[in-house]
Amino acid sequence: MHEASHPPPHGAGPQPEVDRSLLDLLIEVAPVGFALVDHEFRYLRVNERLAALNGLPAAAHLGRTAYELFPSMVARWEPLWRQVLETGEPALNLELSAVVDGRWRAINVSYYPVRAGDGPIQGVGILVEETTEQRRLYQLARESLARAEAAVRARDAFLSIAAHELKNSLAALLGQAQLTRRRAEGEGLSDASRRSLGLVVDQSLRLSRMIDDLLDFSRIEQGQLNLTQASLDLVELARRVTAEAAVGAGPASLSFSCDLERLALRGDATRLEQVIRNLLSNALKYSPAGGAVGLSLGREGGEAVLIVRDEGIGIPGEALEHLFEPFYRAANAQGAQIAGSGIGLSIVREIVVQHGGRIAVSSELGRGSIFTVRLPLAADAVQ
Ligand code: ADP
Repeated sequence: MHEASHPPPHGAGPQPEVDRSLLDLLIEVAPVGFALVDHEFRYLRVNERLAALNGLPAAAHLGRTAYELFPSMVARWEPLWRQVLETGEPALNLELSAVVDGRWRAINVSYYPVRAGDGPIQGVGILVEETTEQRRLYQLARESLARAEAAVRARDAFLSIAAHELKNSLAALLGQAQLTRRRAEGEGLSDASRRSLGLVVDQSLRLSRMIDDLLDFSRIEQGQLNLTQASLDLVELARRVTAEAAVGAGPASLSFSCDLERLALRGDATRLEQVIRNLLSNALKYSPAGGAVGLSLGREGGEAVLIVRDEGIGIPGEALEHLFEPFYRAANAQGAQIAGSGIGLSIVREIVVQHGGRIAVSSELGRGSIFTVRLPLAADAVQ
C-alpha cells in the first residue's frame, strides 16, 4: 500500500503526454525568456516572453536561424554560444542590454549546454530575465550613495578648513588676551576688567576645545583617529591630569586616589589624557552645586580600572544607554542650562575602545554619576 502511493519512476509512467503538455505550459507562461537553438543556431523552441524581448512572434522564430532573424545581434551571441557548445560549460548571469520597441532594456542572460546525460550536446539553452527595473533601482541607490558620500566629503572638507581658520584666529585672540592680562596685572587691574579678560580667555579655550572635538568626531567617522603606541604609566598620567583639572575645579572638590606605584600599559598618552580630562571636566561641570569629585585608579587581573565619581546632577535612567552616542545630551543637562555639545563622551568611548578597553556608566538622578574605564595592561606588566 505504502509503495503504491509513490509516483512511477522517471520515464516509466503511463502519462508522458500529460507531463509533456504541463512542461510546455510551464515554459510558455514562465516569467523568464526561454529558448533552445541547435548547432546551426536554429530556433527549436522559444517561449512568448523571449519572443516579446526579441520583438517577433514565437512562431516566427521556429526553424529559422539567428543569422536570418537577428543579423545585427548574432555577432554578439555567437562567440558565447560557440563557447558553450565547444566546452560544455554554461555562461551564467551575463549582464547585457537590448533595445526592444525603441526602449533600452537591461537583461540578465544565461546560456547552457542542453544534453541528455553524457550524450552529445544538442544545442544551447537560453534563459533571459529582464532586469531593467532592478538595474534602475540599483543605479538610483548608487547615485544617492554617491551624493551622500560627496556631501559627507564636502562637510568634512568644510569642517577642517573652517576649524583650521577658527583655530588660528582663536589662538591669536587668546594670545592677545593673555598678554593683555599679564601686562595689566602690574598696573592694578580693576575687578571688572579682570573678569572681562578672564571671560575672553575662558571662552576662547572652550571654543578651541569644541573645535578639537568636532575635528576628532570627523576623524572618527573617517576611521582616521590614528593612535600612537608607546609604553606609559597610567598612574603618573592620571595624577598629572587631575592636578591640572583642579585649577579650574569650581565649587566641587577634586581628589585623586591610587595605592599602586605604576600601571604600565601601551597606548597613546595624549589621547588617554584626553579621556581623563574629559571625564573629570564633565564630573566638575555637571556638579554645579559642588560636592566631591574623585578619580581612583586600581587594578583587576590584567586590567587597569579607572573610576571617576561625582555627586552632581546625575543622569536619568533612560539616557544611560544613549550617553556615548555622538551629539546626545541628557534632558537634565540641557534643563540645567549647562553648556555642552554632546560629542565628548563619544570620542572618549572611541579612544578607550581603540585601546582594547571599555567604558561603563552608572548614575542616580540628583545624586551623582560613576564612569568606569577598563584598559588592558601591557603584556609584560601582567604576571
Ligand atoms: P557635553 O558634556 O559636551 O554635552 P559629553 O559627550 O561629554 O557632552 O556628554 C554627553 C552627555 O552626558 C552630557 O550632555 C550630559 O547629559 C551627560 N553627562 C556626561 N557626564 C556627566 C556627568 N558627570 N554627570 C551628569 N551628566 C553627564
